[in-house]
Amino acid sequence: MNVFTALESNVRSYCRGWPAVFDKARGSRIADENGKSYLDFFAGAGTLNYGHNNPILKEELLAYLGGDGVTHGLDMATTAKRAFLETINEKLLAPRGLAYKVMFPGPTGSNAVEAALKLARKVTGRQTIVSFTNSFHGMSLGSLAVTGNGAKRAGAGVPLTNSMPMPFDRYLDENEPDFQWFEQMVLDEGSGLDHPAGVIVETVQGEGGVNVARKEWLQGLANVCRENDIPLIVDDIQMGCGRTGAFFSFEDAGITPDIVTVSKSISGYGLPLALTLFRPEYDVWEPGEHNGTFRGNNPAFVTATAALNTYWSDDVLEKQTRSHGERVETALKHICVEHDARTRGRGLVQGLEFAEPDRAGQVARTAFRKGLLIETAGPQDQVVKLLPPLTTTAEELDEGLDILRSAVEETEE
Ligand code: PMP
Repeated sequence: MNVFTALESNVRSYCRGWPAVFDKARGSRIADENGKSYLDFFAGAGTLNYGHNNPILKEELLAYLGGDGVTHGLDMATTAKRAFLETINEKLLAPRGLAYKVMFPGPTGSNAVEAALKLARKVTGRQTIVSFTNSFHGMSLGSLAVTGNGAKRAGAGVPLTNSMPMPFDRYLDENEPDFQWFEQMVLDEGSGLDHPAGVIVETVQGEGGVNVARKEWLQGLANVCRENDIPLIVDDIQMGCGRTGAFFSFEDAGITPDIVTVSKSISGYGLPLALTLFRPEYDVWEPGEHNGTFRGNNPAFVTATAALNTYWSDDVLEKQTRSHGERVETALKHICVEHDARTRGRGLVQGLEFAEPDRAGQVARTAFRKGLLIETAGPQDQVVKLLPPLTTTAEELDEGLDILRSAVEETEE
């Protein structure tokens, strides 16, 4: 049977975009079954911040499995879980002055978002969640209801309720952020809308096309939420775990969300793990109110603990991510001088937006032929999104950027 007939599905597009059967991967490179090697600047859409099969994490994982460590423990206490909780508190939360409770909502990012939405509604006793146009928060019903993308929402078949999408892009310009719109549209009694149960935001919209919220805008949003007693949820599933430089993408803005969702790179090894972090006073769950079979993945706890110990005990990776981000930004700016494109990003999430329809797709397909995996994003898929592993070397970055530049040149009309 043709392998693509076996693999292809209408809900996933990666195997159509990348007609290869992948076999092995290490660091920033992945190889297909014929041995052709690709630089991977897609990195599992931000899941492989420490590269494929990171050797330090692999050693810990193999040792754990070799010693018959518990692999599945439902919600039971295990030594792997305890080590993870101690490490996340000591290495990550305490040094940042964050006193979040750590909840395991289920294996994926959508599970973390669902738990966050349920919690905000339960804590406030209100229903409506404010989200933003072009946001992406997941495919399950609740997370889709706060996703600001019509094509993805259409997958629900019927209108989605209890969400209120607000424009995101309009408020990102250089003007002083102004939240009068929020007060008029959301809070004014004349609006006829209920007081919101929460606001959910990505500091950089990943799937939405690398739309970067300014620091001042995030601060304004945090203020308006605080003043009006509305829980602020930061969805850090794609932008967290160091993608923008600091571990949490909201740190640079100096804000403290009430709830944070984390997944993708938290296990550091591509193993499913998701967290919903929340203020301790929000712990209103009764036992069993949010449970699930796979909500504590012990092998993932092992690699996550190793990742926190290895990369977040000092600021080496954070600094490297910021300087590598500047390197990528400079290269993209050069491309923009010669081609009809715009660039934007933070740290190691950078986007290149094309005015011409389907140009980003052509660039991604051409780059694939030349040995570079990159994804497109944005409502019209008009943005090439670069998400290299944070551990990518400067030489590898330059190699990938050279391929990107030649793919842009080749697709010039
Ligand atoms: N939130 C954001 C910001 C995401 O980028 C994603 C995944 N792309 C999700 C939520 C959903 O995560 P998952 O696919 O693991 O359910």
